[in-house]
Amino acid sequence: MCIFCKIVAGEIPSNKVHENDEFLAFHDINPKAPIHILIIPKQHIENFQSCPGEVMANMTPFIQEVAKKLDLDKTGYRLITNNGEDGGQEVMHLHFHMLGGAKLSWPYQAIEKVAKKYM
Ligand code: AMP
Repeated sequence: MCIFCKIVAGEIPSNKVHENDEFLAFHDINPKAPIHILIIPKQHIENFQSCPGEVMANMTPFIQEVAKKLDLDKTGYRLITNNGEDGGQEVMHLHFHMLGGAKLSWPYQAIEKVAKKYM
């Protein structure tokens, strides 16, 4: 069982923000912003690339509810999913990072690689 499945099962503790039958939102253990929430489907889906569209259709309003609960709908936030090796995905269970609580900088990493390949 992966670490996020263990969190869903209650085998590993988490600081929960919001929950329904399908999805769970909890605080990231190593926050990269004043507010850093992870939003996951309760069923094990490896990453965004293998995520059925119907799951995303239901996940969208859940993510919006999380933002509202934290008042981030008013101030703004960044939503990120790291997908696969080059995307820097460490936990192989689909999750969206919701980052907020401050004006966030935008890291332009690997810009040279992008420039060479696409420009
Ligand atoms: P990623 O690199 O996109 O796979 O992100 C995985 C995230 O999971 C990282 O930001 C970690 O800090 C976070 N994380 C790992 N274990 C836990 C945990 N037990 N509780 C909360 N967040 C976790």
